Amino acid sequence: MRVSRIRVVSTPVELVNPLVTAEGTHGSRDAVLVEVATTDGVIGWGENVAPVGVAYVGESRDASIKAMVEQLAPRLLGRDIEVATIDPGSWWGIDGHCFAKHALESALWDAEARTLGVPLSVLLGASRDHITPGVVVGVGGDIENVVRECEQRIAEGYRRVKLKIAPGRDLAVLATVRAAIGDGVILQADANGSYGPDDIDHVANLADSGLQFIEQPFAADDIDSHVALMRTGSVPVCMDESIGSHRQMVEMLDRGACSIVNVKPARVGGIAEAVRMHDTLLAEGVDAWVGGMLETGVGRASALAVAAMPGFTLTPDLSASNRYFARDLTEPFVLDGGRIAVPTGPGIGVEPLDRVLADRATRIEAVHEG
Ligand code: MG
Repeated sequence: MRVSRIRVVSTPVELVNPLVTAEGTHGSRDAVLVEVATTDGVIGWGENVAPVGVAYVGESRDASIKAMVEQLAPRLLGRDIEVATIDPGSWWGIDGHCFAKHALESALWDAEARTLGVPLSVLLGASRDHITPGVVVGVGGDIENVVRECEQRIAEGYRRVKLKIAPGRDLAVLATVRAAIGDGVILQADANGSYGPDDIDHVANLADSGLQFIEQPFAADDIDSHVALMRTGSVPVCMDESIGSHRQMVEMLDRGACSIVNVKPARVGGIAEAVRMHDTLLAEGVDAWVGGMLETGVGRASALAVAAMPGFTLTPDLSASNRYFARDLTEPFVLDGGRIAVPTGPGIGVEPLDRVLADRATRIEAVHEG
């Protein structure tokens, strides 16, 4: 495949739940889409999902967009590309910028699958035509409100709830939610690395709420604490922020730092790397799942194709469009009987709606042609 044109497009998308960041509260955010055109006239879409105001991914949104536009996109032109062979650690000739690499690479995957006339999920060897997603609930505010939101999500059809816990907002809220939702709903906790080495016993006690796993309890570079928690045998440990590549994943598993892996294609620099991780996880029999990053329909479709692969054995964080957006940029993904269908059209199976591209608020941020 050869790329003849790359366009970066940003467009505002209204959020159902305002985003609270260090800079304030935002009712909408700009989605950043990437369109690649091949020399055969095929169009592929990707999305840069680098988040605003979330430091833990180590790649600010503005820096990610700048790297994508100025450094990475020009490297696609005039090059024979075999997308499945892209190693984000070496192929681009530049370190880091995983979200930016993923945005461009996922557009290439879409174009590749469309060229072949198959859904991306089929190209990746997916084994499912739907996924059963989970939903993430924040624990700020009153516990009663947290419980109410969990009950509302379960009424919508979600069968797995993940609470975003933190020190001081953990034992009571987990126990109260578990009592309210009963034992039939899977409960997970994600700490986003907010506990320290002195908290190992405390985190082990969180298992009393019947957690399927605890996700990233300690800082991304605090591997010893994860190993120590695993050795208590109290609760399965899932890693997210600690794993930025296939190599790091193998190291974490070898060290006994986790028994479950959250694979976010954007965090690891692309779908090809996510597929390599999947293949190892499947071969080793390690449970794993695909995490979300507040994608619009473009990024969601791409992530769903990955999540449908057989080695992703646990519920992904890929909820329906209306969990996040008043109006998605593509045809919305809907929850039907607790499931979301994996798109069946060529490529990612969706594209931005005409009204989105025609919207006066939509901006062409950059164009590269060659
Ligand atoms: Mg996480």
